[in-house]
Amino acid sequence: MAALVGMTGCAGVGDAGASATARTRVSAPVLASSAPGSSTPAAPSSAPASAPASSTPATSSSDTPAPSPSGPPPFSAKIEKVSRDDVRYSWRPGCPVPLSGLRKITMTYWGFDGQAHTGTLVINKKAAEDVASVFGKLYEMRYPIRRMVPVDVYKGSDYDSIDADNTSAFNCRNATGSGSWSNHAYGLAVDVNPRENPYVYADGSHAHRNADAFVDRPLKKPGVINSGDRVVRAFARIGWGWGGSWSGAKDYQHFSENGR
Ligand SMILES: [Zn+2]
Repeated sequence: MAALVGMTGCAGVGDAGASATARTRVSAPVLASSAPGSSTPAAPSSAPASAPASSTPATSSSDTPAPSPSGPPPFSAKIEKVSRDDVRYSWRPGCPVPLSGLRKITMTYWGFDGQAHTGTLVINKKAAEDVASVFGKLYEMRYPIRRMVPVDVYKGSDYDSIDADNTSAFNCRNATGSGSWSNHAYGLAVDVNPRENPYVYADGSHAHRNADAFVDRPLKKPGVINSGDRVVRAFARIGWGWGGSWSGAKDYQHFSENGR
């Protein structure tokens, strides 16, 4: 459910995804108050007043944070165990992390459409709280994220997930151009907005044509990560390194626990 919402709800800026997004309490009230042409969403005056008035970011309440009459919902993140069905394509026996070592985080993120959305990230259990806290910071700074669904939505295809500009973490696969496990196979790496932040080979080439405009750095565009910026600093606070600082190939979308 969350995967479908994340996948279709942010498919484009200002697109007609109402039928999909209306399934979530996150998006529906916003959509209801933002008719095409209106750039100033009005507060939904008819919204039920029964939601708790607390503005304290919750970390374990609902995956569909209630909209606040005065603005976007507070950040919320729910950390849960992962079932075999959750990772049908991206995990198999022999992967370097057991199923029991994985968690899924269902959390709020800020979209390129300037609205709150709910996404899901599969990650190593030991990093789940730290990574959720980073995404809480990204949400507070209104750093836009295109979509956030597990790579299982793309049947475990890293290429397809990247092509869809999907932010994701766990995937039991080898490192790009290598025969050894990627940090993603441990659930200890996150790729953020991979179209805006492509993997660029040492010779300057890249694999995704929709990322052509994002290869030359530094670059000032929404969702782009630059050296030392607030996104890099947010991950650095939990000790995670950035692939954009590598020598040779640069992986601008990539953050990992060990910096590789
Ligand atoms: Zn990566």
